[in-house]
Amino acid sequence: MTPAPVTVRVPAKVNVQLVVGGLRPDGFHDLANVFLAVGLHDEVTATPADRLRITASGPDAHQVPLDETNLAARAALALAARHGIEPRVHLHISKDIPVAGGMAGGSADGAAALVACDALWGTGATRAELLAICAELGSDVPFSLVGGAALGRGRGERLEPVEVTGTFHWVFAVADGGLSTPEVYRECDRLREASGGGHTAADLPEPQPTPALLEALRTGDAAALACALANDLQAAAVSLRPSLADTLRAGTEGGALAALVSGSGPTCAFLAKDPEAAESVAEALLSSGTCRKVRVTSGPVPGATVFPDGSPD
Ligand code: ATP
Repeated sequence: MTPAPVTVRVPAKVNVQLVVGGLRPDGFHDLANVFLAVGLHDEVTATPADRLRITASGPDAHQVPLDETNLAARAALALAARHGIEPRVHLHISKDIPVAGGMAGGSADGAAALVACDALWGTGATRAELLAICAELGSDVPFSLVGGAALGRGRGERLEPVEVTGTFHWVFAVADGGLSTPEVYRECDRLREASGGGHTAADLPEPQPTPALLEALRTGDAAALACALANDLQAAAVSLRPSLADTLRAGTEGGALAALVSGSGPTCAFLAKDPEAAESVAEALLSSGTCRKVRVTSGPVPGATVFPDGSPD
């Protein structure tokens, strides 16, 4: 009997603290990356097929690569190779997470495809095996699997639990066009070099999240979280895309508790006091004309999850 399609829903992330340490010999930076999963989701549906095939739908689907560079394809290939099977699957990505927006959309699809293929093929991978494959696929992929909130060490792939109480309310301002994550890191290095602060990982202590940030998450205190939000990539993202400064200002003037660039950008994230405040920040952002679209959501939310009946319909 042909197995039924499997659909996995997977969230975007915002980095509530992204501390960038020194440059490692492998070209990555040591990070202390505090992730929060938020309620913008992609869905990946795995259906039996005679060969690996990727399709995508949604308003920004034209920006999604449909070849083997797609992280969903790479996830299917990695799982199939480990289990000595052919990757006979059609993966359809229903895309709602901004592409190249600093919200880990590609990583999310990688984690979702892995879970979907594991269920479709009955490979029965353990959680530890899934996490190991995720870490090979990319720095943010393990967090997309796990969701909730976590501290990522190393290049962000070594996760430690972070305690969170309650729900935080967010507005995301989606920009026109993406930013390349490697380019933003290069700009960060360049800015540090120019200010005399370029360091290798060997020169610097391991980056750490601040106790104030962890305490704000633990107690569910949005005002305290607003004071602790920090992103070491923000200056680099704004340097590459100066108009982001206008977006950040528009959200703050519109009543956000705090504003920051999400990961490597160009999506900007705004923390709001409650759902009503989030709606008015969203209106202010829209009427400012400083972004392409605005999304209101909250987090933390769970990581990659199979739809209970296998399909969202
Ligand atoms: P991160 O926050 O993890 O740095 P991002 O959110 O900025 O990533 P993605 O949406 O993951 O960026 O896309 C970055 C690039 O990855 C895209 O320009 C695209 O070429 C490639 N990519 C590979 N797989 C996917 C996918 N499934 N969806 C979107 N982009 C993908």
